[in-house]
Amino acid sequence: MTALQLVQGANNVLFLGIFVLVAINAYRRRTRTDVDAALLFGSLALILLVSPVTQLLGIPLSGALTLVIVAVLMALPYLMLRLLIDFSDVPLLVRAATLGGLIATVVVFATIGPALDPAVTLFIIGYFAAVSLYAAFGFVRLARRSSGVTRRRTQAVASGMGFFGLAILVASASTFAPSAAGFVSGATQVLALFAALSWVLGFVPPSQLRRYWQQPELRSFLERAGTLPRLPTTDAILLELERGTGASFGARAAIGLYRADAGVLTFANSYGAIPADVPVDGSSLAARVFRSQRAEYFIDAARANPENAAAYREAQVGPVLVAPITAGDRRIGVLETFAEHQPVFSSDDLALVELLADQAAVILESRALIDEAARVQAQEAAARLKEDFVSAAAHDLKTPLTTLLGQAQILELRAGRDAELAPHQPAISRIAREARRLSALVEDLLDASRIEEGKLEVRREPVDVAELLRHVAERPRPHKDRVVFQANGRLAGSFDRRRIEQLLDNLVENGLKYSDGGSKVEIRAWREDGEIRITVKDHGIGIPAADQPHVFDRFHRASNVDARKYAGIGLGLYICRGIAQEHGGRIWVESALGQGSTFHVALPGAAEGKPN
Ligand code: ADP
Repeated sequence: MTALQLVQGANNVLFLGIFVLVAINAYRRRTRTDVDAALLFGSLALILLVSPVTQLLGIPLSGALTLVIVAVLMALPYLMLRLLIDFSDVPLLVRAATLGGLIATVVVFATIGPALDPAVTLFIIGYFAAVSLYAAFGFVRLARRSSGVTRRRTQAVASGMGFFGLAILVASASTFAPSAAGFVSGATQVLALFAALSWVLGFVPPSQLRRYWQQPELRSFLERAGTLPRLPTTDAILLELERGTGASFGARAAIGLYRADAGVLTFANSYGAIPADVPVDGSSLAARVFRSQRAEYFIDAARANPENAAAYREAQVGPVLVAPITAGDRRIGVLETFAEHQPVFSSDDLALVELLADQAAVILESRALIDEAARVQAQEAAARLKEDFVSAAAHDLKTPLTTLLGQAQILELRAGRDAELAPHQPAISRIAREARRLSALVEDLLDASRIEEGKLEVRREPVDVAELLRHVAERPRPHKDRVVFQANGRLAGSFDRRRIEQLLDNLVENGLKYSDGGSKVEIRAWREDGEIRITVKDHGIGIPAADQPHVFDRFHRASNVDARKYAGIGLGLYICRGIAQEHGGRIWVESALGQGSTFHVALPGAAEGKPN
């Protein structure tokens, strides 16, 4: 086998191989571009196969068959032009001239036969080379407009067409210089091999090569991506992401963020191609992709979404690539890229837009986390400020209030004995009562501050909780007979008596306060699993389910509490929890709205008979 035969064989294999692969793509995707590519390589394969097959089968090349081959051969330039038309605007005159040239050459062959006048031959060769080279330059221009893999592939297609045009020119030289036929044939085969290799890279590149081609775009995008979450506003981040994505595609890009409250995707910059707010249950391309969570390529946006056709046309949008932006199972939005013309290789672009959408998800998610951290920090700072203020105010109020209360109590005592003061007794009592109330409030504020700062002191001593509870239950109060108490034997433990009493008082007072005058507040205490368990149950207004996890938070009052009817500032339960936790215990509530609440306390208790 000579070197020439080897090159020829390689050419045949390559062209056939490309044809098979593009034919599979065309069958799978059925886009106009894939079909046009399959037609081009199908024609080439036919021309290459015809002579070995007819030789093998011993079929003579009839005139009709020759004419078919010639027609297919002459159609090659036209098919190349068709590929170019798919991606860019080719002037009508060029299209018409190419089609006219094709028809004219076929007619000439059909009427005159293969023995052509040299002038006609020259015309045909000129036509062939001119159209091939026009298509080649068209693809060069296209390559310049695009970037990444698309640019490399377009360049490869362009050089394939260039080499092919040259191969035809060189091949035709043998017509004019028959003596150089050997050299010409070799040069033609080598040029055809270059064309074939270029087209392999252009039309069916290996995936490693695609990845390698994609790297520079991706790297520059990722390099910028790291700094994006720190931009001052989310809008600035969106703009940068859109710019980066657009640059990677040589197209425009827009990001729509999902707003769950309004059920829309909001586009900050939509280039007039899409409305600013797109309902997610609508027919728009963004909404469809958002619902299916699958990236999609729409060859013609106007046809895919006729409702928005006018806007697409106005904004000169043809094909659209849309990918969902999703972090884990959190749907953030969609990334759309739109171009004037079809991207040359949509499958690569779809993979890239998905990759960039994933990156966008990471960036937007980090941004959300930064925002959240800032919000929490600001909230904490505000709470600390409030805390400092409340604590300072309570400290300053404490001394004058103690004096006020002391004086009021002395006056109260004197009013009982002194006839002169007797008429003022009701007023004096009121002053004393309100001073007591104020002083209790200030004590609560100070306790809450101590708990907040982890400075609630617990002075432990042996305490019988059952006895303490009885004392609380029997304390003189306006509705004393409403409190029912039940406990068996001693419930000994080591606690701060005053604090535990404060906790129980608080629960009982709440039980009385948040229920109507007739109902009972039941206190039970028992020992269970080494703990002392206490429940305070009422049949009052209850606590809405949504509030139950928060009633032990500072200043939280449930939504069913009317502040005019029930006095309070929402500190009692916070202090109760602080006291329980300081003793190594727990507190929780079970409640049904409108039926009542049961507060549970569990304290670590000594086993029976043993001191704790
Ligand atoms: P305050 O009673 O001053 O509002 P607390 O910290 O004692 O503050 O209680 C917090 C909130 O929990 C109350 O505002 C009320 O909404 C709810 N709550 C507490 N105890 C009861 C109860 N026994 N029944 C119904 N709601 C209660």
